[in-house]
Amino acid sequence: MTVEHPEAAAPAPADFIRDIVAQHVAEKRYAKIVTRFPPEPNGYLHIGHAKSICLNFGIARENHGQCNLRMDDTNPTKEEIEYVRSITADVQWLIAGWADDCLGFKTSGAAGEPYFASDYFGPLYDFAVSLVQKGQAYVCDLSPKYTEAYRGAPDRPGRDSPFRTRSVAENLDLFARMKAGEFPDGARSLRAKIDMASPNMWLRDPLLYRIRHAAHHHTGDAWCIYPLYDFAHCLSDYLEGITHSICTLEFVDHRPLYDWILESLALPRALPHQYEFAKLNLGYTIVSKRKLLQLVQEKVVQGWDDPRMPTIAGLRRRGVPAAALRQFAYNIGVTKFDSLTDVAVLEHAIREQLNQTAQRRLGVLKPIKLVLTNLPADEAVMCQATNNPQDEAPTLRPVALTREVYIEADDFAEVPPPKFFRLKPGGEVRLKYACIIKCDEVIKDATGRIIELRGTADLTTRTGGPNVDRKVKGTIHWVSATRCIEAEVRLYDRLFTAAEPDADGEFLKHVNPRSLEVVTAKLEPALREAQPDGRYQFERLGYFTLDAKDSQAGRLVFNRTISLKDTWAKAPAPK
Ligand code: ATP
Ligand code: MG
Repeated sequence: MTVEHPEAAAPAPADFIRDIVAQHVAEKRYAKIVTRFPPEPNGYLHIGHAKSICLNFGIARENHGQCNLRMDDTNPTKEEIEYVRSITADVQWLIAGWADDCLGFKTSGAAGEPYFASDYFGPLYDFAVSLVQKGQAYVCDLSPKYTEAYRGAPDRPGRDSPFRTRSVAENLDLFARMKAGEFPDGARSLRAKIDMASPNMWLRDPLLYRIRHAAHHHTGDAWCIYPLYDFAHCLSDYLEGITHSICTLEFVDHRPLYDWILESLALPRALPHQYEFAKLNLGYTIVSKRKLLQLVQEKVVQGWDDPRMPTIAGLRRRGVPAAALRQFAYNIGVTKFDSLTDVAVLEHAIREQLNQTAQRRLGVLKPIKLVLTNLPADEAVMCQATNNPQDEAPTLRPVALTREVYIEADDFAEVPPPKFFRLKPGGEVRLKYACIIKCDEVIKDATGRIIELRGTADLTTRTGGPNVDRKVKGTIHWVSATRCIEAEVRLYDRLFTAAEPDADGEFLKHVNPRSLEVVTAKLEPALREAQPDGRYQFERLGYFTLDAKDSQAGRLVFNRTISLKDTWAKAPAPK
């Protein structure tokens, strides 16, 4: 198990939402702070959701409160049980060891189940009936097209529906018959009676219920009318005793409706309040479930958990630690202004976390053989390598230097450019943790391609040897050619070549054709023991993790989580 950063010791971040909560805590306004994370199960969670999860669970954690995981599942046609499962697993992974004790799960029903807005369809229907009884909701027969036309425009008031003046008795009868399935989809709707001339379009008699003869992943065929988001959300918050309902800025205009519904019902308990923050937009990334679904459906990627995807499942499979995502969320903060976050901020958090925790290993991605002709064929020189120099008391492991080793093809140049401090004909380098070696000979095939290097090892320069202090300019990584294991290594690059892939509405055109390179690497044998949740730095190359999904015994697959340095800062974007 990888040990993660001691975040618990870090000070809690400050932002305008936490300031509001702190004020309420100081006033003792609530017995307990309760937030919620309410995804619609119509796709996998992405890095933008991670920001919201960290905010909602962070506030619960800092205030000894609770954060409910609730499926906002009021739209049966787009939602699936697969998404409920993936969302639940992703949230649990992201908060594991950090805020698990704040996770609000349903206390009734199956253990370990999140809340579902659809569990409240009964009470929500009753609330709707009471609005009708109060004369604050009516059944409208306008078709969706006419409803829209009657709504007006932001600069033009709407018109009252001809059904707005129906009697309470008629409304109650029609709403009951809508529920009983007497009418086809779209024939009627239930609308709030507010103000068709309001400058806020959301207050122009918004729809509360619509008819959908569709099976629901959680309630089956029990219902053929479904509440709309605005009606279901505020009341689900109320039913769960949410104190702070935190959402993104596009809901600012919905807030008067959120309050109107709750206040119109004259409810006995304290009402929840909505607060809005700016959503995460990340460079070179798409944060929209609908568009990510398109990448999956059009097979641009291999699935929702493809390690190139900005989904939590993809990031996890790629080897990004949960603590790095939480650190990223802390670093970017919470504001009221939309902006584009540089992807380097995410990459920095990942490198920082992995530098602390990753085990160092030796691996060669693009190997070339080097024969050390002065070493015997059947013997190994045992050397000691450091597992993690960041540990308080770093441990060592043995690595075997043998007559035949592999080095990285890039670390040799027959005709070296200026300031090339790696291996060249007649030159010397240090093999990390072993000794200095010299290149004596370059062997080529008939076509002139280099097939092998020959050299000699100076064992007097080993640790403990008399010439250990002899200096050469370059140190390179290597593995024993006779003891290494082979593995498939997947090298990922950014999925998009444009910082704002959807700025022109054509994100599919900006897919990076070189976002995946697959190589057969030679790795030190200790990596045979690699664990699915282990994190490894292949020295000088980057951070890697085992691909638990595609690895089999004897056929290991590793994913590169991230390179050691940002290669995009200098390099031009790939064409
Ligand atoms: P998408 O457009 O990707 O489907 P959504 O907002 O419709 O996003 P929901 O499932 O409704 O997705 O989101 C659940 C919660 O996550 C909401 O409270 C929403 O405000 C928040 N959220 C979604 N996207 C982001 C983002 N990019 N940054 C921060 N929070 C987000
Ligand atoms: Mg949504």
